[in-house]
Amino acid sequence: MQTLRLIPDPAGLAHAARLLAQGCCVAMPTETVYGLAADARDGTAVARIYQAKGRPSFNPLIVHVADLAAAQAIADLPPQALALEQAFWPGALTLVVPLRADAGIAGLVTAGLDTIGIRVPAHPVAQALLRACGAPLAAPSANASGRISPTTADHVLDPDGGLDGRIAAVLDGGACPVGVESTIVGWQDGRATLLRPGGIPAEAIA
Ligand code: AMP
Ligand code: MG
Repeated sequence: MQTLRLIPDPAGLAHAARLLAQGCCVAMPTETVYGLAADARDGTAVARIYQAKGRPSFNPLIVHVADLAAAQAIADLPPQALALEQAFWPGALTLVVPLRADAGIAGLVTAGLDTIGIRVPAHPVAQALLRACGAPLAAPSANASGRISPTTADHVLDPDGGLDGRIAAVLDGGACPVGVESTIVGWQDGRATLLRPGGIPAEAIA
């Protein structure tokens, strides 16, 4: 497979959206790091993410959506999650919240859990792609499992251990402004818990 490098103009975004609709994986810039996106409703497409990355399939993926309404079609956000959403979305915060029974998300995305990690990215290219394809996008970092997360399209295509030849395309949106992964917050027995430090400082969330 030859990996296309697409410019995120209207034609490039439409091309990327078509590839996603066909079940292919496309790397996209977000404000945190480049994500390897696939339609989260399509189990075959999501399996290609795991295959391209060499990721163990028990490790759940973060789903990216365009806005709060799209998040609420997939997950039930408790009041504290809504407060965090108000403060930090769109942005570098992932919320692990109960998955809705009618969400239509492929089981491979959540690794069979009854919760889902969900985020509204702020990056204009990620936003444009989400709106162009109209699908929730499962997107872990666009690197081979165990490697450093990529913050440029060149990193994604790095001949030494990158994903060149393993994915359909990368949308080249330049360098990621935040450059580290999203902060992940979940709830255990009703208490908010920091699951992973990241782009939003824990003190801001507290
Ligand atoms: P990555 O997509 O590589 O940035 O990593 C996603 C991380 O999000 C996983 O390794 C988990 O730690 C976390 N995560 C995603 N979904 C869930 C979930 N449903 N429950 C708990 N943790 C999750
Ligand atoms: Mg990663």
